[in-house]
Amino acid sequence: MKAIVVREFGGPEKLLLEEVPNLQPGGDQLLVEIHAAGVNPVDTYIRAGTYAKSPQLPYTPGRDGAGKVAVVGGGNTRFKIGERVYLSGSLTGTYAQTALCTEAQAHPLPPNVTFEQGAALGVPYATAFRALFQKANARPGESVLIHGASGGVGLAAVQLAHAWGMRVIGTAGTHEGRVIVSENGAHQVFDHNSANLVEEVLQSTGGAGVSIVLEMLANQNLNRDLAMLSRNGRVVVIGNRGTIEINPRDTMSRDASILGMLLSNASDEDVSVIHAALGAGLQSGVVRPVIGRRYPLHEAAFAHEAILEPGHYGKIVLMIP
Ligand code: NAP
Repeated sequence: MKAIVVREFGGPEKLLLEEVPNLQPGGDQLLVEIHAAGVNPVDTYIRAGTYAKSPQLPYTPGRDGAGKVAVVGGGNTRFKIGERVYLSGSLTGTYAQTALCTEAQAHPLPPNVTFEQGAALGVPYATAFRALFQKANARPGESVLIHGASGGVGLAAVQLAHAWGMRVIGTAGTHEGRVIVSENGAHQVFDHNSANLVEEVLQSTGGAGVSIVLEMLANQNLNRDLAMLSRNGRVVVIGNRGTIEINPRDTMSRDASILGMLLSNASDEDVSVIHAALGAGLQSGVVRPVIGRRYPLHEAAFAHEAILEPGHYGKIVLMIP
């Protein structure tokens, strides 16, 4: 079968399309025929060798994907051959024609959801759900600023927060991005490059500030986020690419909290809660991933360049014939 293989850490050119041996599932494992793989920013950090936990070389990238169960291991109890599934994690990497995963990493994909949408679920929606409900304890009637709402995690958070009865404010850096954030349920959308963002957000909340900020680029925004919070406000740091100076007094005057999160720290129980909720959201139509760009598997390097460029919106996926 064909798979992307990384033999040494480095730039996108290290993503090589190769013929690799076929995989066989054991125990409670599944072999899944992958039709689409999700490209996440973390895939680029791992490929570059700059991520906290590096895989052993060579490896096949990709945590997210969707397709059909091709072979089930002897200990499998949940899935049938031919069943449509999405993967949130895999044992062998999803940038490939097939991938091995455990039963716990596979989740049913309803017929109304495409494979490319299925590939957009794992990291982005699980992160958005965890940030809103398991970290910030979001409640209906509260307000949330989704700072970086046009990307994979941001659009997921917009849909979930809107369905939960929150007042949703989103930001994006382009007109097209702001339109898509609005179409997905944000009540107001601002440009995160605006010098007046703090005033705009405060004005839109009648001066009260927002209950929650979901932050995709904390090293640029954390200090301003604190100034936009209401009393007992919470900032969830989801994305960060550097350092920043903040004024801690801004947390004191509001009894505010800064909450860091890493999806991979979620317990097994939290993960099963997340995917039970996402499954219900897929059935009801609350969860409806937006695909921004599609690349064929052999163009994985272009997809890795695109995910780090500003201005793309929706999810970037690899299509696998
Ligand atoms: P993505 O699809 O590439 O989206 C990135 C988003 O960030 C876009 O909406 C982009 O908007 C926005 N952005 C760019 N500059 C910004 C700025 N100055 N202020 C606010 N937003 C800005 O990436 P993603 O998959 O949504 O992930 C977002 C971030 O979260 C990444 O850093 C990723 O590594 C991280 N992440 C962390 C976890 C975790 O467990 N903590 C899990 C998943 C993702 P424009 O392009 O329109 O400017």
